[in-house]
Amino acid sequence: MTTLDASRPLAAPLAPGAAPFTPEEADRLARRLGGPVFRPGDDGYDAERSGFQAGHRHRPALIAGAADAGDVAAAVAFARAHRLPVAVQATGHGLSTATDGGLLISTRRMSGVTVDPATRTARVGAGAVWSQVVEAAAPYGLAPLNGSSPGVGVVSYTLGGGVGLLARTYGFAADHVRALDLVTADARRVRVTAASDPALFQGLLGGGHGLGVVTGMEFGLVPVARLYGGQLVFGADRIDEALAAYLRWTATVPDTLTSSLALIAYPDLPQLPAPLRGRHLLQIRIAFTGSAEEGARLVAPLRAIGPAVSDDLREMPYAESATIHRDPADPHAYNGDNALLRGVDAAALRRVAALTGPAAPVMVVVQLNHLGGALAAGPDGTGGATGVGHRDARFALRVLSPLAAGGDGDGLAAVRAVHAAALAEVAPWRLGRSVNFLLGEQRARSDAAEVARSTHGPGAWHRRAALKAAHDPENVFRFHPYDGGPEADGTGTAG
Ligand SMILES: Cc1cc2nc3c(=O)[nH]c(=O)nc-3n(C[C@H](O)[C@H](O)[C@H](O)COP(=O)(O)OP(=O)(O)OC[C@H]3O[C@@H](n4cnc5c(N)ncnc54)[C@H](O)[C@@H]3O)c2cc1C
Repeated sequence: MTTLDASRPLAAPLAPGAAPFTPEEADRLARRLGGPVFRPGDDGYDAERSGFQAGHRHRPALIAGAADAGDVAAAVAFARAHRLPVAVQATGHGLSTATDGGLLISTRRMSGVTVDPATRTARVGAGAVWSQVVEAAAPYGLAPLNGSSPGVGVVSYTLGGGVGLLARTYGFAADHVRALDLVTADARRVRVTAASDPALFQGLLGGGHGLGVVTGMEFGLVPVARLYGGQLVFGADRIDEALAAYLRWTATVPDTLTSSLALIAYPDLPQLPAPLRGRHLLQIRIAFTGSAEEGARLVAPLRAIGPAVSDDLREMPYAESATIHRDPADPHAYNGDNALLRGVDAAALRRVAALTGPAAPVMVVVQLNHLGGALAAGPDGTGGATGVGHRDARFALRVLSPLAAGGDGDGLAAVRAVHAAALAEVAPWRLGRSVNFLLGEQRARSDAAEVARSTHGPGAWHRRAALKAAHDPENVFRFHPYDGGPEADGTGTAG
């Protein structure tokens, strides 16, 4: 375990390029770590700082490619001693605020995954991704509560709550966490459980970024070996009808069925496959844990909407569940916002479809996740126990747009304007935002402080601010928009 003299206060973020450590000091750190250390200009620096989000990249003064929790503690201690703010990156899917001149801890080497079938427990390192856990759990007829994309990092997804393919049946991924190994802002290694530190445990799970570096996580797996699911896709002529039918249908389905709807106006580009090119499509994605016969009976009202462009609903092994969403696997630039809703009506969704359809000035992928069920109930059935905000939401409306490389400037402004207009249509039902579905640069938004607060439920923002003050008073971890940065003064209200 590493401890350090915390008497040297941290200054404001350093200017790009500033390096308040000597090359010899960086070399000493490199000799101490099991993993590599990179400075700007080193071979490997660019590859290490690059992730799935290609819109922007960290520009750290130093990267610690941590091999284990000891490396993470040593890197945090080094950062403290040299007044460097610290950021963390696993896959870069959630990269929202890049480091300038700080220390980046890259966790991709800490990718161990083990499964104990007897206790239905998985243990992962900070760099593990969901496909690894799905693969390790499948031989035992078990599944994790992963989301749509197999390449997303397990730890950060779960710290943000984690709305997965089986969300309505089993709740948030965060609800199943049993223990977190954490390196704190003063470089101590601690194990956090509901018994050891209930407030910190709860605070870490559901918007818990920026309280430390999670180096390992233990969580429960669920007994799911197979699913009935896939995608039902309708063309533009059925969109209005399908939006209304889907809303009516969600009020009738059991908690064993989780679904979402997506609206995508594909541009007329030659590189797109012919079935997608230039078409405005509505996809309904299904994951049902019951039998195929019961699944087919449940989706009959959706099939009755009319002839589908495609329909691949079928029984599948859980290990094939990434085919339900078919998320893009290649890095690209994107920005996204969302609204958690207590309800919504078809007329509002039709206006969203019109604002984001083929006539929109930018491409927008709209997604509506059906929530409720075990998400609302919480792990103990009381709706509490972890710090996930807005459990009572019935839907999440998400808007996501690709950006040109570079990810900022006029393109981002145009995207934000369309996103704001679409989300304004559902404002009457809005409870707040999901932290996980805020994607891409958020800090530069004029409403960044309100956005950060809106990810927490009523009263929770104050608890979050108190935890940040207790566990990271000097704001060492300051590169997540919800890390309790300068705007997080604890005076805001949720909502
Ligand atoms: C294509 C795509 C699909 C997605 N699907 C879903 C979904 O179905 N359900 C859902 O809930 N979310 C989903 N998300 C959101 C995703 O869960 C978040 O963006 C998450 O933060 C990504 O984590 P990462 O490790 O992959 O990304 P990173 O960018 O590496 O990490 C994101 C942030 O988390 C923090 N962080 C990372 N590692 C640690 C650590 N060890 N300790 C402390 N803080 C850390 C850092 O602040 C970092 O900037 C999706 C995102 C994308 C891009």
